[in-house]
Amino acid sequence: MIYLLSANLDIKNEKDEIHSLRFQTAVKAIKKLLGRNNKVVVLSHHGRPKGFEKKLSLKPLEKLFERELKRDVIFFKDFNFNKMRVTIKEAKPGTIFLLENLRFLDGETKNSLKLGKELASLGDVFVNDDFATAHRKNASNFAITKFIKSKMGDTLKSEVVNLGKAIKKPKHPFVLIIGGAKMADKMGVINNLLPKIDHLLLGGGPANTFLRAAGFEIENSIYEPEMLHASKRLLKNKKIVMPIDWVKENSRILDIGKDTVKLFSTIISKAKLIIWSGPMGFFEDEKFTKGSDDIARAVVKSRGFCIIGGGDTTRVIDKLKISKNIGFVSTGGGAMLDFLAGKRMPAILALNKNAKIKA
Ligand code: ADP
Ligand code: MG
Repeated sequence: MIYLLSANLDIKNEKDEIHSLRFQTAVKAIKKLLGRNNKVVVLSHHGRPKGFEKKLSLKPLEKLFERELKRDVIFFKDFNFNKMRVTIKEAKPGTIFLLENLRFLDGETKNSLKLGKELASLGDVFVNDDFATAHRKNASNFAITKFIKSKMGDTLKSEVVNLGKAIKKPKHPFVLIIGGAKMADKMGVINNLLPKIDHLLLGGGPANTFLRAAGFEIENSIYEPEMLHASKRLLKNKKIVMPIDWVKENSRILDIGKDTVKLFSTIISKAKLIIWSGPMGFFEDEKFTKGSDDIARAVVKSRGFCIIGGGDTTRVIDKLKISKNIGFVSTGGGAMLDFLAGKRMPAILALNKNAKIKA
């Protein structure tokens, strides 16, 4: 059997590639699909290239996969589909193939049917295990499903199951923690989950916007003027908990303060379900990472089930080496936010449709 696997290899931190959640998730999926006698063709992307960009090539991953999987990996540096079909067919079972960054092709993000069909022709069954792009229609996660038997990979399945816990019948107290840079990105989640949660704890940029809406002087802190109106309206909601103290430098709020950590930690300790998206402060600077670190520790200590997502929030957890103690770490950033906001996920819906055009 030849499996086509859509995996997320969009890994930012080059040094940590091997240890990254995304790389390890792909390794696990490949191992499982290889079984004893199968071949696996990996479809993926990296960054937002405009045509071919050497620095966004997936070529460096060939060696990393070989080292991790101890199998032959064949990297296809161009998109010569005729040649690829032959090479894949003739290779011995147990071989892994890696296509170059699919976003080097225009058709990928345009969800080109032609590209979807070419990709489908490389194998027998398509397995989508890339949750992080599931909120977008691409040739390698949407068009392709029209031409080949398609199913969900284990990781995609567990994303749907775990994130589903928040949407359907959540356990209470249910606490949502929102921080990070932009509130606009997270407004959909706030609006969709507000009726279901018991407390919304705010840090980072979103907290600043709320503080300003409540009349506090935030000076030069980051905030979003266009969200002031929505924040003012939400302020009346008793579920919303703003910081009560903060750490400032050069007239900018850069972290939550000690008393806020205490207040948030008490609420977190009683929670049965926690969702956390966005660091509490400018955590890249050691001086302002304490708020995020302490909240991470409070989350681990709590007996509630915790779901974490977003590249930066995951980085906080990774840095403290506590990922194993977190209920569920989502591989998606924007996709997780869309899912929790109750939006349609086209790539997931596509897998549930059975009618296929013959390739
Ligand atoms: P995630 O990737 O987890 O979704 P975001 O991308 O929304 O998180 O936000 C992370 C960014 O927000 C980090 O770069 C962090 O430094 C920044 N940030 C958080 N709080 C502040 C603050 N008070 N001032 C400036 N930047 C902040
Ligand atoms: Mg981020």
